Amino acid sequence: MPNHKKISSYFGKRSSPTAYASSFHKGIDIPAPPGTNIYAAMSGIVVLAKFNGSGGCTVTIQSGNIYTSYCHVSPNFLVSPGVYVEKGQIIAQVGPKNVYGFSDNKYKDNNDNPTNGATTGPHLHFAVREDSTYLNPLNFF
Ligand SMILES: [Zn+2]
Repeated sequence: MPNHKKISSYFGKRSSPTAYASSFHKGIDIPAPPGTNIYAAMSGIVVLAKFNGSGGCTVTIQSGNIYTSYCHVSPNFLVSPGVYVEKGQIIAQVGPKNVYGFSDNKYKDNNDNPTNGATTGPHLHFAVREDSTYLNPLNFF
């Protein structure tokens, strides 16, 4: 997200900001308004584009054994599994805090409205893993 470079939460240990949010943060958080374009950090194949538990609406791209995930994105997905995307291509937009219609969503805000995974407000959660081991994205990008 070219105009959004502030990181509100870094990779690693933290105190959990909301119910069910992990106390080991497996990525970095970059706040941005809903609708902000998200550009692929790596080329690869889309392997997941759906509501995915604590990550909320999530897009995951596989580049060999490296997986990059973009969480809490808009439920209006711009890519679908099996599609090849280029680095720098718009692959999603930042999602709203609240999303509706996902029956497997247990995450709610203080007003009991369903949230876009474990989130307290619109932001991109960006994660990198090598196979199943999460790595600090700032060591890559
Ligand atoms: Zn996060």
